[in-house]
Amino acid sequence: MKFATKTIHAGQQADQTTGAIMTPIYQTSTYIQESPGKHKGYEYSRTGNPTRKALEDNLASLENGKYGLCFGSGLAAIDTVIKLLSPGDEVISTNDLYGGTYRIFTKIFKNYGIKFHFVGLDNVTKLESYINKRTKIIWAETPTNPMLNISDIESIGKISKKYNITFVVDNTFATPYLQKPLDLGADIVMHSLTKYMGGHSDVVMGALVCKNDLLAEKLYFLQNSCGAIPSPMDSFLVLRGIKTLHIRMQRHCKNAKIIAHFLKDHPKVGNVYWPGFESHPNHLIAKKQMSDYGGMVSFNIKGNKLTDAISVVSNTHYFSLAESLGGVESLCGHPASMTHAAIPKIEREKTGVVDSLIRLSVGIEDSEDLIDDLKQALEKI
Ligand code: PLP
Repeated sequence: MKFATKTIHAGQQADQTTGAIMTPIYQTSTYIQESPGKHKGYEYSRTGNPTRKALEDNLASLENGKYGLCFGSGLAAIDTVIKLLSPGDEVISTNDLYGGTYRIFTKIFKNYGIKFHFVGLDNVTKLESYINKRTKIIWAETPTNPMLNISDIESIGKISKKYNITFVVDNTFATPYLQKPLDLGADIVMHSLTKYMGGHSDVVMGALVCKNDLLAEKLYFLQNSCGAIPSPMDSFLVLRGIKTLHIRMQRHCKNAKIIAHFLKDHPKVGNVYWPGFESHPNHLIAKKQMSDYGGMVSFNIKGNKLTDAISVVSNTHYFSLAESLGGVESLCGHPASMTHAAIPKIEREKTGVVDSLIRLSVGIEDSEDLIDDLKQALEKI
C-alpha cells in the first residue's frame, strides 16, 4: 500500500456487524466476557479499545513501523519513553526543542535521577563526545521547534546503533508524509498528534511507533500501567484527520514556501528560518531526508525589539495568535513568551529564540490572503 492509500485504509476495516465504513467510536470502558479470560480480544479500555487500536495500527503503518501506541497527549508519550529509564541513566537531547519537552526533562525527570545533556544535534560530530556507559537515549526533534534546525537522522541512527542507545525522533513537525525516521535508523518515533496528524485543532493526543518487539512490549506495559490513554472519541477524530494528511501537507508546504520567500524580501524582517532555503545551514540534510520542507516558518524582526514582535502577532487576522500548530488554519506565536517560556532566557537565546522571534504555523488558506495579513501587520511597526 502506498502512503495516501494507507492514510485512508490502514488499520481500518468496515464494521463487522453493520458494515459502517467509518471505524465506530467504541465508547465503552469494558467488554463482556463469556467466561473468565474468554473474550473477543478486549477486556478493559485502558488496556485496549478498538477505535484506539485502529488508529494505532494506522500510525504504525504510516511510519513503516510495527507497533503504534496512543496517549492522552504528546507529553504523555514523552513521559512514557523516559520511564523506560532508571536513576543514573543519561539522555542526550537536541538543545532546540519544544519547551514542554525541555520542562518535563529538566523539571520532572531530573528529580528522578535522570541526567540530560542538551546538544546541537545538527552537528553530529559533537554527539559522540557526550556518550558514556549511562547514555540510554538520544532524543532528536527534527525539524526543531521553533528554529527549524534539522538533525541528520541516518547519521545519528548509525551512532546510536554503535553504542546500543535507543534513538527517539519527535516527528511532530514533519509527519510521516515528509519523513520516516524508522526507515532512517530511529528506534522510536514520537508524535504530538495534536498537530498535523489530527490537523484540525480539535484534539490533544500523542503517539509512539516502533518496530522492535521487546521495546514495544515495554512501552505497552507502561501505557497500560500508567494509563495515560486517549478517549475513543478523540481516537476517531485523529483517525479522520489523518485521512487527508497527505493533501493537507502538500498545501501547508506550498504556502509555507511562499510565505518564507515573502518574509525574506521584507525590509522589516531580520532572519527567516525555513529549511527549504539553500542558505539554511542544514538544507542539504533536509533535502536528503524530507520530501518537502514543512509548514512552519520562523522569523525575527530587524532590531530585535520585543514590542515589535508583540505588535505583529497582535495585529494579524488570519494568523491567529495561539499556542499549537499544524491545524488547517494559520497560527502565529511568540515563542519567548508562549511555547518556550519554560526555557530560561539565557538558554533559549543561545539557540536563537530571541525576544523578537515569531513562529508561524502556515495553514491551508489562500496564500494571497496570508501575505496580505502579514504585510499589514508588519506595516504597523
Ligand atoms: N513535541 C513537539 C514538537 C511539540 O510541538 C509539542 C507541542 O507543542 C509536543 C511535543 C507536546 O505535545 P502535546 O501538546 O500534544 O502534549
